[in-house]
Amino acid sequence: MWGVFAFLFGASVGSFLNVTIDRLPHGQSLVRPRSFCDACNRSLSSLDMVPVLSYLWLRGRCRYCSAKIPMRILFTEAVTGTLFTFLYFRYGFGIEFLVMVAVVSLMLVVAIIDLEHGLILNRIIYPAIIVLLILSPFWSELGLSRSFLGTPDLLASFLNSLVAGTGAFLVFLIITIIYPAGMGGGDVKLAGLIGLLVGFPGVLLALWMAVVAGGLMAITLLVLGKKGRKDSMPFGPFMAAGALVTFLSGAEIMGRYQEFAANLVGAWT
Ligand SMILES: [Zn+2]
Repeated sequence: MWGVFAFLFGASVGSFLNVTIDRLPHGQSLVRPRSFCDACNRSLSSLDMVPVLSYLWLRGRCRYCSAKIPMRILFTEAVTGTLFTFLYFRYGFGIEFLVMVAVVSLMLVVAIIDLEHGLILNRIIYPAIIVLLILSPFWSELGLSRSFLGTPDLLASFLNSLVAGTGAFLVFLIITIIYPAGMGGGDVKLAGLIGLLVGFPGVLLALWMAVVAGGLMAITLLVLGKKGRKDSMPFGPFMAAGALVTFLSGAEIMGRYQEFAANLVGAWT
């Protein structure tokens, strides 16, 4: 029952994320005007804006002019709803849930805007960095121990985030200077943000997963002939995915890896 509520809550947040994704790259207000159809400019009634259901009921078309509603509207609502449900079953409703939900929403918006526009917006990244700096001493207090850090005190937690964020920023900055065609300034700032979020050594796992997944995708697209060697591919979605997986399950993944490595060493000696 509460799972359904978590899904509906997530789908509604997803609906707001869609507004953000549509408007923020154009510098438009998120609250005004109310949502309207891009094709016929009619304001949408609340019946047109029920998350997930409206899209399905209207079969992806505007009620007034039958213009196609982008598939992404449904995608964002459904994915946000599903992730929130997962978070509810893992954490219940509480402060951890709220923090997790905020991180998931942030990463979805960053990833989808980068996919659609090839942009990582400063007006998202800068406020997020400030919030993360303020939060960084308190992860344990929030119940999110990032347990691979042990249980650090406030200062240790803050310094860990700061070092991981600065380190990731500098490494990506150097890569971008050496190989300017690969990534942009937005990716560099996002790397710093992810370091602040997941700390060290989580940042290594997050960015390693992003590079591997991004590399595999690039090779696949190249082999399928969908992209030429010179076309660029947004890297932000892979970084966001790596960060989310690490934030949610980094401790488990690293624990397994250590076990695996220890067994390997044991087998050799
Ligand atoms: Zn319309």
